[in-house]
Amino acid sequence: MQYGGLECCGCRLKGDFSSEVYWTRSKMLGHLQEHTYVGHTVPIHAVLRIIEERNRLGDDLEPDLSMLNKRE
Ligand SMILES: [Zn+2]
Repeated sequence: MQYGGLECCGCRLKGDFSSEVYWTRSKMLGHLQEHTYVGHTVPIHAVLRIIEERNRLGDDLEPDLSMLNKRE
């Protein structure tokens, strides 16, 4: 279970569909660029959203600790 960060779900770059988590928006954008280098289609709305969030909120992603305080 991942609490925060940006995740490339079912990533095809490594060939095993594993997920990678990034803690800065710039690193995630760089990762999406790697996808385009090998011919994968990256949704432009995803790229634009990350850029917009980076401009508005900054580059760093804080861990989401709110889940840790939840009681079942
Ligand atoms: Zn990926």
